[in-house]
Amino acid sequence: MISAVIVGGGIVGLATAIKLRTKYRTAKITVVEKEMNVGLHQSTHNSGVLHCGLYYKPGSLKAKLAVSGIREMTAFCRAHEVPHEICGKLVVATNEMERSRLDELLRRGEANGLRGLKKLDRAGMLAVEPHVAGLEAAHVPEEGIVDYRAVCDAMKKVLLESDVNIMTGTEIVAIQRGKSNWIVRSKSDSIEGQWLVNTAGLYCDKVSELAGEKRDVQIVPFRGEYYTLNEQAKHLCRHLVYPVPDPSFPFLGVHFTRLIHGGIEAGPNAVLAFAREGYRKRDVHLREFAETLAFPGLWRFMKRYPQMAFSEIAQSLSRKRFCKSLQKLIPDIQAEHLTTGGAGVRAQAMTRQGELVQDFHVVRSDYALHVLNAPSPAATASLAIGQYLTEWI
Ligand SMILES: Cc1cc2nc3c(=O)[nH]c(=O)nc-3n(C[C@H](O)[C@H](O)[C@H](O)COP(=O)(O)OP(=O)(O)OC[C@H]3O[C@@H](n4cnc5c(N)ncnc54)[C@H](O)[C@@H]3O)c2cc1C
Repeated sequence: MISAVIVGGGIVGLATAIKLRTKYRTAKITVVEKEMNVGLHQSTHNSGVLHCGLYYKPGSLKAKLAVSGIREMTAFCRAHEVPHEICGKLVVATNEMERSRLDELLRRGEANGLRGLKKLDRAGMLAVEPHVAGLEAAHVPEEGIVDYRAVCDAMKKVLLESDVNIMTGTEIVAIQRGKSNWIVRSKSDSIEGQWLVNTAGLYCDKVSELAGEKRDVQIVPFRGEYYTLNEQAKHLCRHLVYPVPDPSFPFLGVHFTRLIHGGIEAGPNAVLAFAREGYRKRDVHLREFAETLAFPGLWRFMKRYPQMAFSEIAQSLSRKRFCKSLQKLIPDIQAEHLTTGGAGVRAQAMTRQGELVQDFHVVRSDYALHVLNAPSPAATASLAIGQYLTEWI
């Protein structure tokens, strides 16, 4: 009989457990989570967007798994009455360089099999979002918004009903390879499984190290901060309004997102966090921060993209600067329309050469699968990632 221990009860770990249970009805499956509930980190500190695969290089894992992932995720939401809406999005080009990048995005989207993608001229763009500025836009009708807290709760319910063991409040501190099993230990428990699946998000590199894996990347935590629009400004955005992203980075640039339960959020930026779970500017974890600073990849990255690092920090410290980036998309937004909102921290893998890993990254070894890079759109694609991992098993 197959048995598996999944370390990390975020949306990727939960979705993987669902897929494993679907394939192996009698397998012994345990999800181990250090917090007192599942999905308390990236999975519920995000933009709440259902991404359909526009941005990703054709043939990449992200492209494949986002496209099948959004279809699976919306089916899951329908089946489990999770609030969601396919409201469509605009990606807006505001200058000539962005226009040519927009054409490339449309080519990628078509190559990835997106349906209904359309380029809109200014008039077409204003018919969808009357307050945006820009030269032209891509309309992506398949994208949407969702309540990822409700997704995690529904996944947990499915797992408990199908006899999957979820151990919360259990932080894994040691992992040992037995003769034919993995032995995964917390301070008080020891759990065994034939397969080890590491979906520990912001700590996935640490967990892989515990398992003796020689890893090629390190997680560098990038905080994404949000503002919410006040009552006077809410009418300025109807759906989802995004800039054309810089292809050198995996981050999409600050954008406007309608939330599934009402309200509009603006953000997130991308600033280096001083702690892996550092949701506030003042959160510092000395050991983790020292490790980040000691990582040569970070310095190579900063040397290569000093402007990006500087502008993100400046934007984080100044509401006015943040607002200026937003005004590129919607000029009527004013700093006084913005109220400080929440934040999330991205588990972004970086190589020692200072490259941000763009694609999902899974390292396979002796009966172990380590998910070492699962940033956006991994919430949307979680069920497809779970299927991908299950096929390996
Ligand atoms: C600001 C931001 C915006 C985003 N927007 C979107 C979006 O709109 N759409 C989208 O699809 N994606 C988005 N993403 C990405 C998405 O949220 C993540 O890709 C996804 O949630 C990753 O899920 P995960 O399960 O891998 O990680 P997590 O949700 O972080 O789960 C990992 C879990 O592992 C647990 N863990 C860690 N170490 C241990 C240990 N030693 N023992 C036991 N448990 C452990 C943690 O407590 C955590 O619960 C966004 C991310 C951020 C940060």
